[in-house]
Amino acid sequence: MAKVIYPGTFDPITNGHIDIIKRAAELFDEVIVTVAKNPSKTCLFSIEERIQMLKESLKDFEKVRVDSFDGLVVDHAKQVGAVGIIRGLRAVSDFEYEFQMALMNRKLSSGITTIFLMPHEKYTYLNSTIIRNLAQFKSDVSDFVPQAVVRKLKEKFSH
Ligand code: ADP
Repeated sequence: MAKVIYPGTFDPITNGHIDIIKRAAELFDEVIVTVAKNPSKTCLFSIEERIQMLKESLKDFEKVRVDSFDGLVVDHAKQVGAVGIIRGLRAVSDFEYEFQMALMNRKLSSGITTIFLMPHEKYTYLNSTIIRNLAQFKSDVSDFVPQAVVRKLKEKFSH
């Protein structure tokens, strides 16, 4: 039974993330979407809110589970018995950072493989920062994020 983790900030989850999750679920028996608890980024949504949005958005995905972690991604992968780490590559601009992370993680734990998946082209320009900015100015983001996220963004920026 091959299990992988898909770690990230998910602030919030977008349809680009979901595209990657679907692709991973076609390849592996279980995909654990796991939220980093202490990212270096400042987040709009709390860890609980991000987990809640992920759970709601992914409730119909049989092979997908939502989790969170503190500390190193490779340690978390080992703890849950994952064989690999899924990451999404949108453009060449993602490559440099992802390449460094993948090599460092391989150095830290050679048994854990980083697997890069590319989303459909229509998601290559999508990221959580753009969504937060659009929502802040009351722009409609329903083409880019699941309904649970649309609702939560409206709540967040309603006052
Ligand atoms: P992180 O802070 O770890 O980069 P993110 O939540 O921004 O967390 O992204 C998690 C993963 O999903 C990363 O590998 C990122 O490249 C990928 N990703 C983000 N947005 C998209 C998208 N629109 N299409 C495909 N992959 C994406």
